[in-house]
Amino acid sequence: MFVFVCAGCGAELTVSLSEVVLPPHARQKYGNGVQLPVLMEAGTFAVDPDPWGGPWRLWDEVEPGEAEARGIYAPVHALSDGTAGAYVIAPGDVRGTRLILEKRDGACCGLDGADGPNLACEACGLPVATRVDDCSLWQAVRLGSDAVRRLFVDGSHAAPPSWAELVEKGERTPPYEPIATWGGRAGTSHYWSWSPRWEAAAGQALAHLLVASEGRPVKVPDGPASDVFQRALDALLPAGPSARRAALVGPGRPVLDSGVDIVLVPVHPRTGRMWTTGGPAASAYPVPLPLGVWLWLVSPQPQLAMPASGGLPEDVLRDDPLPPRPNYLFRPDRGTFRHTLVRLPGVRSPWMRTVREALTQDWPAALF
Ligand SMILES: [Zn+2]
Ligand SMILES: [Zn+2]
Repeated sequence: MFVFVCAGCGAELTVSLSEVVLPPHARQKYGNGVQLPVLMEAGTFAVDPDPWGGPWRLWDEVEPGEAEARGIYAPVHALSDGTAGAYVIAPGDVRGTRLILEKRDGACCGLDGADGPNLACEACGLPVATRVDDCSLWQAVRLGSDAVRRLFVDGSHAAPPSWAELVEKGERTPPYEPIATWGGRAGTSHYWSWSPRWEAAAGQALAHLLVASEGRPVKVPDGPASDVFQRALDALLPAGPSARRAALVGPGRPVLDSGVDIVLVPVHPRTGRMWTTGGPAASAYPVPLPLGVWLWLVSPQPQLAMPASGGLPEDVLRDDPLPPRPNYLFRPDRGTFRHTLVRLPGVRSPWMRTVREALTQDWPAALF
């Protein structure tokens, strides 16, 4: 466990936290005016390796070779010169800070952090963090890697759970969920839609699938994986007879025979390591998926129960009536897709030209 302290005066700025993986939806902008939940589970933190927020430089102003040195292999609209390596935590885990009231320009329903750090250390006044809780953004506090220090506080280092333990726990992420609208009246302040988590996870995975395609069609397994990926793959890759085959591989799944070129594998939520497989599929291209999404893909639950209302306790779930399904086809999150794709060296492959060109132009609206 760690606590984070102010780099200026040493005051404690958080409760004790343990490190987990940054979720793929960390940078997602979802819907219009909706209220997204808190990004990080209470008691955890994740490191965001990439710069975040301003100041920005347009692609034309970036020196040749500079983007590549920063791990960006295809043109982007603008490059962030913000500080990299922020510690991302739940707002409720912050201690001893105050809001910098002037730093709220551009905010809509909450704070978007576009003005730079908006939380100061209560003891010494050093700007130490950025709180983000505006509409369409996941609520989080980003502690500046240059403004805080992390201190190890607990000698007993709990080993991360094994894959078998994680599978047994079976925390699946449902593909659709109620989305809260800002300021709606109780009872009418949500609508059912595709899960933002799924859209971001699919955006990240789609970028890997395109690189893994080697310019050939890709066929993912039938069922929910097909609903999520196949339409975008068919639109962005050439048609042809020799499709590369993708399979769902991971803990508790049978070892595959040959003929699998791409494996959709879970990421360990604590260590960030992808599942590795033996057998003929060991050399297949691994495509990362958050564990909760992967668990659902390998064992979908056909119907979700719905939160009950009307005189019943809040945590009672109904299975009649069932929640309404989203009335549009699934779309991977465009921003997460783009963020991932430009950081994969494979984006430079000749057969990625069409996709690369589309990166700087308008995407087919129906896909993203
Ligand atoms: Zn708003
Ligand atoms: Zn301080």
